[in-house]
Amino acid sequence: MTDSTHDAALRSWVESANDDASDFPIQNLPFGIFRKATGDDDPRVGIAVGDQILDVSACLDADLLEDAAKEACKLASGTSLNALMQSGRGPASSLRHGVSRLLQDGTDEGSKAAKAESHILVPMSDAELLLPARIGDFTDFYASIFHAERVGKMFRPDNPLLPNYKYVPIAYHGRASTIEVSGTDFRRPVGQRRPPNAPPEQAPTFEPSRGLDYEAEFGFFIGTGNQAGEAVPLDRAENYMFGLCLLNDWSARDIQAWEYQPLGPFLSKNFASTISPWIVTLDALEPFRVGAYQRPKGDPEPLPYLHSEANERSGGLDITMEIAILTEKMREQRSEPYVLSRSFFREFYWTIFQMLTHHTSNGCRLVPGDLLGTGTVSSSGSDEMGSILEKTKRGAEPLTLPSGETRSFIDDGDEIILRGYCERDGYRRIGFGECRARVLPARSLS
Ligand code: CA
Repeated sequence: MTDSTHDAALRSWVESANDDASDFPIQNLPFGIFRKATGDDDPRVGIAVGDQILDVSACLDADLLEDAAKEACKLASGTSLNALMQSGRGPASSLRHGVSRLLQDGTDEGSKAAKAESHILVPMSDAELLLPARIGDFTDFYASIFHAERVGKMFRPDNPLLPNYKYVPIAYHGRASTIEVSGTDFRRPVGQRRPPNAPPEQAPTFEPSRGLDYEAEFGFFIGTGNQAGEAVPLDRAENYMFGLCLLNDWSARDIQAWEYQPLGPFLSKNFASTISPWIVTLDALEPFRVGAYQRPKGDPEPLPYLHSEANERSGGLDITMEIAILTEKMREQRSEPYVLSRSFFREFYWTIFQMLTHHTSNGCRLVPGDLLGTGTVSSSGSDEMGSILEKTKRGAEPLTLPSGETRSFIDDGDEIILRGYCERDGYRRIGFGECRARVLPARSLS
């Protein structure tokens, strides 16, 4: 259900938030953790608005919030969002409503807050954005059937989609320890690789990956957790979620191809994952809820625990994913990042609610601050691909950039930039900001 916070006519006294191009208008208000670039303040909870960050604790100090929003503010006074996440959707929702009123132009609350501007706003350009939560566990799904089919064809030409795919939201357990916030560079991984057509007696080599790839995904944070043994029913799944971010699940395809059977990816995916700093709440995404992806005729219905009318009606999210590259040469030439592709989350085979319900269906406990990835966002269009593996057909058809450079996979010095946004007639466009990271050369093996 949409409410007054989604009204497209709302304007903020923070002028930059009224810019049509801003990802963070007053209708969005995503949560994050920041630190002022100068001084030695602890990390604090912030809310993005235009090119500014609203310092949530400073609003409490200035006594600008009341009632439920004020109570929620107290949960948001730590150095991570975990306490707010743990308390469920209610407090974050109250805080978002209170902050919406505070940032509105032309209201009494707004005028009072505007007078305190220098105490409660920090320009994003003067802040360091940090990981929004202490992430306990990371699980990554594989829920785009278009990605699964294209990749499956490369690895198993005769058997691209395994028989479980249309019944099970497939995932692997990743590691949270190497998840970094946008802007954190990382080294190309080193690992075992063996060319796919090598004779069976040939030993693998141990060297820097030659098949580094991005996977453009959305991540969603667990709010309230469930108890061990408690399965979350599909129609209650959204009560256990805090919000979404962008996620790049960096992958080394050559290491993956050699190691992935029989237990799935291991070192090919846990050397680095990058997330965007701002968490867009499910509340902010409410106008962009759509029906779940319509399965083609002949596909099986989900099993009963993964099926509900509400999920069919509004379990999908209409979010566009955009992937851009900035190479070393482009940086030298001062070129803008080049958009490699756009793809559409509304075409996901499984909804995020089905993913969460499936994850808990055996009694597995999810904890506040856990991060679940959706899997690579690829969609039906022939160019709507969330990985370079798909775009270059595993390197067989290199792509040419406007700089004249070609790429089969990702080179050292390349920076990949993910963006996500939602648009719908009658509503203000909202966005996720950026998720970017640059690849540094592998460590020396000598
Ligand atoms: Ca992935």
